[in-house]
Amino acid sequence: MRVLTVLGNRPQSVKAAAVSRVLRQRHEEILVHTGQHFDDELSTIFERELGVPKPEVQLGLGGGSNTEQTAKQLAALGPLVAQRRPDVVLVYGDTNSTLTGGIAAVQAGIPVVHVEAGMRSWDWKMPEEQNRVLTDALSDLLLVPSKTAQANLEREHPRGRVIYVGDVMVDVADLFRPKARENSAVLERYGVTPGEYVISTTHRAANVDDPARLRKLVDLLLAVPHQVVLPLHPRTRARLEAAGWYDELAAKVVLTPPLGYLDFTALLVHAHTALTDSGGVQKEAFLARTRCVTMRDTTEWVETVQSGWNELVDLDTERALVALERPMPAEHPAPYGDGHAAEHVVAAIETLDV
Ligand code: UDP
Repeated sequence: MRVLTVLGNRPQSVKAAAVSRVLRQRHEEILVHTGQHFDDELSTIFERELGVPKPEVQLGLGGGSNTEQTAKQLAALGPLVAQRRPDVVLVYGDTNSTLTGGIAAVQAGIPVVHVEAGMRSWDWKMPEEQNRVLTDALSDLLLVPSKTAQANLEREHPRGRVIYVGDVMVDVADLFRPKARENSAVLERYGVTPGEYVISTTHRAANVDDPARLRKLVDLLLAVPHQVVLPLHPRTRARLEAAGWYDELAAKVVLTPPLGYLDFTALLVHAHTALTDSGGVQKEAFLARTRCVTMRDTTEWVETVQSGWNELVDLDTERALVALERPMPAEHPAPYGDGHAAEHVVAAIETLDV
């Protein structure tokens, strides 16, 4: 089969690290990067560390509002899909690139496979939630990472087929966590001791785009009684600089550029706590048995909260400080599959009648 995969940001490259490896053993893959969030240096690190193949097509369409991005991506993906005539279009997660890959395929009459289907935060204001719901509606194969996602879709009765495959990020985490755990150089680089610092990430529009919310976020980070290490997402950096709060934060928090997966994972597995608004990081903290405090009031990864490994505090500093010191649960369930999700994804694709 010829599979055209559309990527647009960092977590999608992590997911492709798992799937492309298996897919390419038996099928042809055309990897397209829209450039929605593209960092050349980081992308090279991901290729080297995780074996993510170099995208064959780079559309270079970064910047702009969600609507502008969607329009630009569709204008480029439409002719590309028509020209390459893949048997299947494969999309991951919940970005604008997920949605536009799906629309371009549907309009060309090509089946769509959505990996990480069925996730819901039930917060319709989140751009990611809009992308998830719309992409699920147009997909032929909805590959879910958890039983919760499966139950969500059973209630919605989508037109495509729903298959539980587990989470492809578990495959990547299982594969690379041992190597990351050995990587002490990054802790030395940032002057932190295992178990004593907090690793943080933040980039959700709801937390950084509105100056009042951004201020609450800065105050929360400044109140943490541990050294905080925060690899800054480009969007967050831009918002902090525009508000004039970058230097104030940098005086107390170790602000780093976005890190490679192995450096980031080393900091995550050895941290006292992960303090984040990222979906992927909540789950990776759970998998690494690192306590997590999430700066949102909803999550798609409900099992991490139900099991006690993750706590939602929104931007409430008092609640965050309590959650940061809570004891870790004794039990650690495995709701996200068997670590072979990529194989299940490829097997599911092979059931398509194309
Ligand atoms: N990540 C990384 N370097 C960093 C921060 C995160 O490699 O400096 C990885 C992290 O391990 C996870 C993914 O990027 O696999 C999460 O991406 P992000 O927070 O951008 O997206 P989200 O999961 O919120 O969609």
